Amino acid sequence: SLKLFNRALKFKDRTSIINYPNNSTQRYTYNDLLNESQSIANILNYKKKDLEQERIAYFFGQNFDYVRSQWGIWAAGGTAVPLAISHPIHELQYTIENSKSSMILTNSENYSKMKEIGTKLNIPVIELPKVGEYTTTATQFNPTEQYKQYSIDSNRNALIIYTSGTTSRPKGVVTTHANIEAQIQTLVDYWKWTEKDHILEVLPLHHVHGVINVVSCALWSGAICEMMPKFDCKQVIDRLLESGITSDLEQPISLFMAVPTIYSKLIKYVNETITDPTERLAIESAFKRLRLMVSGSSALPESVRNEFQKISGQVLLERYGMTEIGMALSNPLNVDQRIGGTVGFPLPGVQIKIQSEPNNNINNNNEVGELLVKGPQVFKEYFEKKEATKEAFDEDGWFKTGDIVEKDLSTGRLKILGRSSVDIIKRGGFKISALEIEREILDMDSNIQECAILGIPNDEYGQDIGAIIVYKKGKKPMTFEEFKTNCKVRLAHYKVPNKFLVLENEIPKNAMSKVNKKELLKLFS
Ligand code: ATP
Ligand code: MG
Repeated sequence: SLKLFNRALKFKDRTSIINYPNNSTQRYTYNDLLNESQSIANILNYKKKDLEQERIAYFFGQNFDYVRSQWGIWAAGGTAVPLAISHPIHELQYTIENSKSSMILTNSENYSKMKEIGTKLNIPVIELPKVGEYTTTATQFNPTEQYKQYSIDSNRNALIIYTSGTTSRPKGVVTTHANIEAQIQTLVDYWKWTEKDHILEVLPLHHVHGVINVVSCALWSGAICEMMPKFDCKQVIDRLLESGITSDLEQPISLFMAVPTIYSKLIKYVNETITDPTERLAIESAFKRLRLMVSGSSALPESVRNEFQKISGQVLLERYGMTEIGMALSNPLNVDQRIGGTVGFPLPGVQIKIQSEPNNNINNNNEVGELLVKGPQVFKEYFEKKEATKEAFDEDGWFKTGDIVEKDLSTGRLKILGRSSVDIIKRGGFKISALEIEREILDMDSNIQECAILGIPNDEYGQDIGAIIVYKKGKKPMTFEEFKTNCKVRLAHYKVPNKFLVLENEIPKNAMSKVNKKELLKLFS
């Protein structure tokens, strides 16, 4: 049976979701959530009785409509396909078409956009009624009774989440309810979620980070999930300042999870716009009230970790995961045991193995190789990609992440060196981690805002090392010669970039703030 529903039944009148800005009309209890999703399930089942073989796409921002739709699809027995709110029409159409979704759920605000795609693909677009406003096809009834009837097999497909498309076209990752339950349970235990928690959710909800780590873990725990329509530095800080004091009726915000660029933006915002020392202290105290702040989805530069600690007193917890496996590696919850530049240890219940490569020369002291993962969290298949699914596992059933990791043999801690396809640069017989070079560059020059290191094809040496650098506003870029001289202090000669490009603004990123290195390569041609 669906554990999320059964657990939600126990939390009854506790708050589940708050739509930001929080006022009484936008605060929903667990009963509301169950009622609403049941009504949506009724609408869906009215269209089609058994949705076991059906995928349903849903298009919402970060709000209650998103969650009630996802749960409604599950209650109706279907597979939920979340769409990225920020994606352009052709990307959305790709996801809907590729997943062979048979319906699209959305709200009035986004109806015309979805209708355009629905018409093209000849599939119905359902506009959700406002909360509580249902016609007879979806009359509300006692959720407790109704959910008793739902003993949906947990081996049924639950979600299709598309990978970020960093290395190739996004792949549809099919997870069952049992898979996501295992993913949730692991994180809830390790990060000690309870119903006293209250998370401020700012991430897009088409990706495992927001969908599982934030929203599902919160609802599994009976905690409050407060949803901001999009990330905004000022709104986040204002909200944290007010949370936990005076008129705020809810339990204080205790958790925050984000990608490294969000933390960079917060640092920049505080450093550049908050000049009053008293105000800065207040902001620091506001951050300090949280019990945990997590970073993941791409590497957290040490400079960001340190600068964030300066403005907030918080030591970010970095973890590693991917769409196919949920979270796999994490620094400990205990602050004193978190170490920057590493992603800690395997999470309980996640089995890992390092497939060392022969003649590896990235780092001889430690164990280095591709990370393989096994466990109930691991996805079922790539949607309708039998070959790709087969290739993703070895003959003993281990999932091959494609990420190269380094394990410190004395401590057991793991470090991510990057994807073998785009981050491991092969040059003159050496294998070089782009992530390692990126870390060193950010560390060596505090005028650098961001950087990306890429392998550029070179006939003679295999690959050149290209550096794309963005300097902080108002900081004068170095010449390539100065840059190389600086690099040589920290990096072995063969790791020093031999191509150099300074960008004015930002390095282009996708909706999850990931850099697409294949795309960036074009800048060098
Ligand atoms: P695609 O599979 O479509 O190429 P993707 O791998 O970026 O895209 P995701 O599943 O969203 O899609 O991202 C997982 C990847 O993100 C991991 O394989 C890893 O390379 C990277 N990643 C996640 N967390 C970290 C981290 N803490 N440090 C470094 N890299 C990370
Ligand atoms: Mg991937």
